[in-house]
Amino acid sequence: MKDEYNRQISYMRLSVTDKCNFNCSYCKGDSFSTLTDVMSFDEMYEICKAFVKCGIDKIRLTGGEPLLREGIVDFCKRLSSIEGLNSLVMTTNGCLLKHYAKDLKRAGVSRLNISLDTLNKDKFNKLTGIDAFDDVIEGIYEAQECGFKNIKINVVLMGGINDDEIADFIELTKNNDFTIRFIELMPLGACSQWDKARFISSDLVLKTNENLERITFDGVSEIYRVNGYKGRIGLIRPMTNKFCDVCNRIRVTADGKIKPCLHSNDEYNIRGLSGLELQNAIKNAIASKPKSHNMNSFCLSNSTRYMNQIGG
Ligand code: SAM
Ligand code: SF4
Repeated sequence: MKDEYNRQISYMRLSVTDKCNFNCSYCKGDSFSTLTDVMSFDEMYEICKAFVKCGIDKIRLTGGEPLLREGIVDFCKRLSSIEGLNSLVMTTNGCLLKHYAKDLKRAGVSRLNISLDTLNKDKFNKLTGIDAFDDVIEGIYEAQECGFKNIKINVVLMGGINDDEIADFIELTKNNDFTIRFIELMPLGACSQWDKARFISSDLVLKTNENLERITFDGVSEIYRVNGYKGRIGLIRPMTNKFCDVCNRIRVTADGKIKPCLHSNDEYNIRGLSGLELQNAIKNAIASKPKSHNMNSFCLSNSTRYMNQIGG
């Protein structure tokens, strides 16, 4: 279905929980609040079916940490059998993947994005507040073993924190079919008041790695590679090159609100609706997507939800 600005909205991101076993300092930090009334999987399933009827053909499960939610594998199985849904994918912190990768694959999850902001164990512990670096690394390789192709590794670039590791991340693509995606930090939630020096442009990746050649554009991500390497590098620039004109996504929070734009506080409740009423509410929310967000490096996001309550 098209929105008011003629953008085809085909991709829905569903946050299945706001709970997370990590405390990433930029996302959830220590000051997050907890949703008290998260939807059941039955409610989420009905909502997903209605979205597919409205033209959505790709659903991403996210959170919080989606693998913390009990029954997630069965939920994936149910979703992947919805007629008209072409792609069921997940974003995860990777920590529980070594236990779940095989089951997720069998349940119809086709691709995984795994978040990993540093390759340094001590730094990882400080950034996430949990000693789980080895679990994440094992999870990534287990997912690869189980047949997940082109795993995307999300690296949020933070000035003075991990900008010295860009080359190390790129080296990971030498022998692995990974796409390392450098994402610009957005001033939202726990990091909204951070020092401006933390918010750096992903141009730094290109400036410090002249061996990168641009090969294509994939959704919101510019794709590069090092000649001869197996994997690829993606740059996602919500701050320095906003991609609102090609935005094809809509978000649903775990408490049943549609967020037409990540950086707006506008939300539409769809919990408790069914049938045509639900489909009409979805269509109205899609139609109300703003033309673009109004955030830049000097302006904060207008969204007051923390990222763990949106899903990225
Ligand atoms: N827990 C899962 C994970 O970490 O992959 C899924 C949820 S997490 C909110 C989804 C993505 O949002 C992660 O890749 C995370 O790094 C990213 N994220 C969180 N806060 C962000 C921010 N302020 N700017 C840019 N990306 C952010
Ligand atoms: Fe949890 Fe993901 Fe947020 Fe980290 S980025 S605190 S893993 S939801």
